[in-house]
Amino acid sequence: MYLGVDYYPEHWERERWDVDARLMEDAGVELVRLAEFAWSRLEPEDENYDFSWLDEVISILGGHNIKVILCTPTAAPPAWLINKHPDILPVTRNGQRMSFGARRHYCITNRNYYYYSERIIRKMAEHYKDNPQVIGWQVDNEFGGPKCYCEGCRKEFQLWLKRKYGTLENLNKSWGNAFWSHDYTAWEQIPLPVVYYHNPSFDLDFRRFFSDMTVRYSNMQIRLLKGLNSGKFVTHNFMGLFSELDYYDLSREYDFVSWDNYPRDSSNRYRAALAHDVMRGLKKKNFWIMEEQCSYITREDITRTFPPGEMRLWTYHCYAHGAEAVVYFRWRACNFGIEQFHSGILQHDGTDNSISYRELKQIGKEMGKIGPEIENAKIVSPVAIIYDYENIWVNLAYQEKPMYDYPGEILRFYRSIKRLGINVDMIKSSDDFSNYKVVIAPLLYVMTDELAKNIKDYVSGGGIFIAGFRCAIKDESSNMLKEVLPGKLRDLFGISIYAWDNIRDMAVEIKDRDGKIYRGDTFADLITPEGAEVLAQYNSGWYTPYAAVTVNRYGKGKAYYTGCGLSQEFYDSLMKQLLSEYSIKDIVFPEEVEVNIREKDGRRFVFITNFSDKSVSIKIKRDMRDLITDKYINGETELSPFGIMILEG
Ligand SMILES: [Zn+2]
Repeated sequence: MYLGVDYYPEHWERERWDVDARLMEDAGVELVRLAEFAWSRLEPEDENYDFSWLDEVISILGGHNIKVILCTPTAAPPAWLINKHPDILPVTRNGQRMSFGARRHYCITNRNYYYYSERIIRKMAEHYKDNPQVIGWQVDNEFGGPKCYCEGCRKEFQLWLKRKYGTLENLNKSWGNAFWSHDYTAWEQIPLPVVYYHNPSFDLDFRRFFSDMTVRYSNMQIRLLKGLNSGKFVTHNFMGLFSELDYYDLSREYDFVSWDNYPRDSSNRYRAALAHDVMRGLKKKNFWIMEEQCSYITREDITRTFPPGEMRLWTYHCYAHGAEAVVYFRWRACNFGIEQFHSGILQHDGTDNSISYRELKQIGKEMGKIGPEIENAKIVSPVAIIYDYENIWVNLAYQEKPMYDYPGEILRFYRSIKRLGINVDMIKSSDDFSNYKVVIAPLLYVMTDELAKNIKDYVSGGGIFIAGFRCAIKDESSNMLKEVLPGKLRDLFGISIYAWDNIRDMAVEIKDRDGKIYRGDTFADLITPEGAEVLAQYNSGWYTPYAAVTVNRYGKGKAYYTGCGLSQEFYDSLMKQLLSEYSIKDIVFPEEVEVNIREKDGRRFVFITNFSDKSVSIKIKRDMRDLITDKYINGETELSPFGIMILEG
């Protein structure tokens, strides 16, 4: 397991490099990421390369036993290149070509950009291929935009559509182009979606196209690096819950996923936890953190400084969810540039007196001891939640704003499962569900015959499937289905839905079978049971005759339908009922605490993380050893503010 930092030696004078390397080694840093945006220093002029400074810094770091990840510098094309080929700059939705500046200022389909990207990558890969200190590569930085609306992209889009649909007749039909006279009679007529109101089918295909073009550019880099640098890993820094790219596709050819974790503060703890699980789910294996927040961050605003202990807490939270390395952004706060109010492990003054540096030293010492024990320990989960980019995009493709909060709908279930101390896997709808006791699918709009079969096979074999509202309402082209809802899954759920409503600010009551009242929110599918058992009923106005939550036996399993958003206690009680056999029994912990488990060679490591800035009490019901203090604990014990424990037993 590695502890590392993102380092930009080109931001500091040469004399400082030795001091930095010594301070890094003292704190337990074993890995440094370099050259992320350094194109203008690696190729200051067209075909005029200078790797001497990078060679020197790598050699200095080597003297302190620090390994290196190099980045391909393509997230920041230099000014000379843009000046030579201004067509590389992306065009905005309103038709304006962007100027040079900031970063990511390139069109993802531009052939000139492919040429210059390949050239600098080839040079770097050949130069460092025999350097054993360079262990791997990060491709580009945080793929994801801006989307480009240039003529070149328009032509690529038309080609992409031609490959997909074959004929204009197919395309016109799939997009429903009879509506508002949108029929195309030549491929060249098809525009990019630059107007405000556009067809949801068109919008969905443009999102798929943008994702595919990004994957194509990313794969070009991966293949180049792997061809020239066998033995060195290739990864990319993903962005957690970022939704503009199909991360399953993007991650396919990388050796592993790494990602940039900026949780901001503890109010976002469940979103950060969910993001870790989404990242682990992309390749179904442990991941790296390539940029970990070490204190205040900036862009539109400046967040709070982490109080002592909080950086350490977030670090162990990463390990708890399956991280194999944590690399902090960044080594030292920069005195200039756009991110000058963005903290580093060292502050602008460069002294070793910062809160983050002291904490890094502590983490370095701890991980030196426990890292080998927990390395490659797996996360095993009895429950999975479907996280699907097609559904995210369909949810986004409505008048420029999401219809519902996709991660928010997932978090209703996720929070309740985490409160039981149970691990969660995030999966694709096409995955094999058979390893899971329960599979949950909020906002599963798109339903195909294959998916319906996958779900029905799972349930008839004994699985428990839970759908959120708006399930199976659309086809793959984002068109509403003509079937009675929930369409292809009507027999599975044993229900029909003929009416629904957007709840908005209305006060809606839901009453369960014991007479307990919950608040309904967001959306209401008004369910008519057709064989299903009613678990809760609407209890407000014209909704009252309808069911809100149902369960249906199907083969050896059960299918639940939750027709609306409900208060958290509802999910708490449902998850407790379905998953109680998997909940943590030997540790009692309050709401502020999250518990995760990793397993290895028959050993079980329980990560306990306190997200509160106050001490909390937990109860351990049998002898367990804390890996950090090496002490055995049993009974009531105090967990300090932002405190952590890794218990074995
Ligand atoms: Zn373009």
